[in-house]
Amino acid sequence: MSPHPSTGAAAPLRAYFRTGRTKPLSWRTGQLTALRAMLTENGAEFARALHADLGKSEAEAYRTEIDFTVREIDHTLEHLTEWLRPEAAPVPARLGDDASAWTVHDPLGVVLVIAPWNYPAQLLLAPLVGALAAGNCAVVKPSELAPATSAALARLLPRYLDPRAVTVVEGGVPETTALLEERFDHIFYTGNGTVGRIVMAAAARHLTPVTLELGGKSPVFVDRGTDVKTVAARLAAGKFLNAGQTCVAPDYVLTDPGTARELEAALAEAVEALYGADPAASGAYGRIVNTRHFDRLAALLDSGRLVTGGGTDRAAKYIAPTVLGGVDADSPVMREEIFGPILPIVEVGGLDEAIAFVNERDKPLALYAFTESEETRERLLAETSSGGVGFGLPVAHLTVPDLPFGGVGESGMGSYHGRWSIETFSHRKAVLHKPLG
Ligand code: NAD
Repeated sequence: MSPHPSTGAAAPLRAYFRTGRTKPLSWRTGQLTALRAMLTENGAEFARALHADLGKSEAEAYRTEIDFTVREIDHTLEHLTEWLRPEAAPVPARLGDDASAWTVHDPLGVVLVIAPWNYPAQLLLAPLVGALAAGNCAVVKPSELAPATSAALARLLPRYLDPRAVTVVEGGVPETTALLEERFDHIFYTGNGTVGRIVMAAAARHLTPVTLELGGKSPVFVDRGTDVKTVAARLAAGKFLNAGQTCVAPDYVLTDPGTARELEAALAEAVEALYGADPAASGAYGRIVNTRHFDRLAALLDSGRLVTGGGTDRAAKYIAPTVLGGVDADSPVMREEIFGPILPIVEVGGLDEAIAFVNERDKPLALYAFTESEETRERLLAETSSGGVGFGLPVAHLTVPDLPFGGVGESGMGSYHGRWSIETFSHRKAVLHKPLG
């Protein structure tokens, strides 16, 4: 007998999918509207849960999770008819001029969404928006490391959505392992690459396609001669959001020694402008998710010269927004994705060295650059590979609803958001029609 008895979640959803009830546009828009109502009517409950799990301020909870998802729903409701329209394809003359060809979006069936803890509402609900909009049933598995948000989702989703089409399964490794033994038509996983490999191997047994939204060390190149005050303000806001626990957070800075000196001073000021002289007392600054991650991060704090921050409080899972200067490329903080509020600055000779530095490492989820030079932007685009790119502003590219969000190489495969979610959660069915007679 399997050590992980099946949750049996997929089978009833598959039976429901086969009735065809999830296919009409009206069902899909009805589900999206209900999901929107769940968020607007229970925003305060979600905000409280996110504060309990991650110390997120109410403003941040709304901005990065609740309102973010509402905007994704609104954008989808506005454009869904257009996105689902069959698309004509040219037909070669040898098939005759009465023949026509087109593609339609076919829902896949029953999809599994496995979410992480860092944006535990957004990263479960935004994929669900796409899955429902594309006409699928879904099993969703919130992260056990954000238990308050997981409980809120498990309580509220069945009250608002069609319970025959959406099932919430709470739990950790045993529950997820059991789920992965069932057959799904797509698995959408957000989290780390180690588990990503487990998910993909399990999916292979059923020939199930996967989307893997993973992470990695997203670099930031700061060019000589840029306005370091602006750079520091935008960099600090992107880095220290959610106490650095953001998949697209700037991981480390590459810049020349002269710019590094100026940037260090500007970053110290920018952190103070955001969170005051004592960030521990700021309601706007988050906490580390658990003591395991706290201990992992605290061990990285002496990887370089302290520019600002460095303070910790284990009981409160607090790590100050920290900037480290003169960091060695081989130091511990440069060996793994930081995923916390520590920003190392690594000095390089210039653009060529920065490009080589990036290319020697795994392909990141995002690459950022602050530069006035168009040539430098063009070179970075042409000579590096990453899931996405942000020039002049980190993190925000994922809030542009028509941009695909996803990684490449070690940072993942596949993408979503807006119409890209429809592509991910549908099969593009090819149709040829040659009239009889
Ligand atoms: P996590 O520990 O919450 O894990 C994610 C999910 O995997 C959870 O639902 C968990 O239950 C499940 N899981 C954990 N171990 C498992 C196992 N052995 N078998 C099956 N399922 C298992 O989250 P995490 O991985 O710590 O998240 C952080 C990582 O996620 C970072 O690398 C970050 O960059 C990445 N991330 C990526 C994105 C993105 O959109 N690309 C977004 C957020 C986070």
